Amino acid sequence: MGEKVKVVDVTARDGLQNEAKLVSTQDKLALIEKLVWAGVSDIQATSFVHPKWVPQMADAEDVAAGLARFTGVTFSALIPNMTGYERALAAGIRHMEFVIAASETFNRKNLNRGMTESLQLLKETTRLAERDGVVLRVGFSTTFHCPFEGKISSRAVLNAVRAAREIGPWRIALCDTDGMAFPDHVKETVSLLLGELKMKASDFILHFHDTYGRGLANTLAGLEAGVREFDSSTAGLGGCPYCPGASGNLATEDLVDFLEGMGYDTGIDLEKLLDAAEFACRFSSRPYQGHLLRARRAGACGLAPSVSA
Ligand SMILES: [Zn+2]
Repeated sequence: MGEKVKVVDVTARDGLQNEAKLVSTQDKLALIEKLVWAGVSDIQATSFVHPKWVPQMADAEDVAAGLARFTGVTFSALIPNMTGYERALAAGIRHMEFVIAASETFNRKNLNRGMTESLQLLKETTRLAERDGVVLRVGFSTTFHCPFEGKISSRAVLNAVRAAREIGPWRIALCDTDGMAFPDHVKETVSLLLGELKMKASDFILHFHDTYGRGLANTLAGLEAGVREFDSSTAGLGGCPYCPGASGNLATEDLVDFLEGMGYDTGIDLEKLLDAAEFACRFSSRPYQGHLLRARRAGACGLAPSVSA
């Protein structure tokens, strides 16, 4: 059996938060059930953001209540602020993603505060998390590129991650929010962080969007730098509110197929995962954004199976 790589499915949060069509709580839980059935053991299920900002996440408490029926799965939720933390805690969530941006402008636009304030908030959240037995993950959006500031230097990311790690021992998700990262930049950033900070490769999670079709190339760069945990979204759902036309997150089925094909062990059953992807397609008003479903089940994407030479 190959080396283990963990796949964290974020469809129910990142995948759906930009979808205009509201997805019912029942359908979100049905998708989660299919993912669990396929063997996905880490799922980001919702976001405790104010429904005024993200109406799709207005049912965060209801989704959280529905998770109790699944066993052996780590469920997490995103929290944008202290209210989000309190709501998530009350809903029984014990793994939370604290978001901050590697770019000052994106932090202000997305979270309405500067990075210094975000770090202060991380300090307060850390104090509560340690009290409440909550595990945080610090997600740095725009790690490689910002739609407003352009390329983010690996030095800037180093400083931001160092500041976060001085506050708490949390694992760090490096997120390519607009899908503009390139493999050499991914490798350079991860290598710099590993070299300069007292962190292990297992302290990092990589989160790629596939806007420009570079999600798998960037995954390979992350693997080569030693990272063994990746976020993705079933059927490639997702996007970025600041990047109109952005196709979506790297598709979970594409990622799993890629990893398994390279000899890694994800513990995920690809056929069952394709069932989940087929189901997830109905949540989007756009055509299917991944690759594998089209190649393996053309009919599910509204395409007639073709006979090729
Ligand atoms: Zn994302």
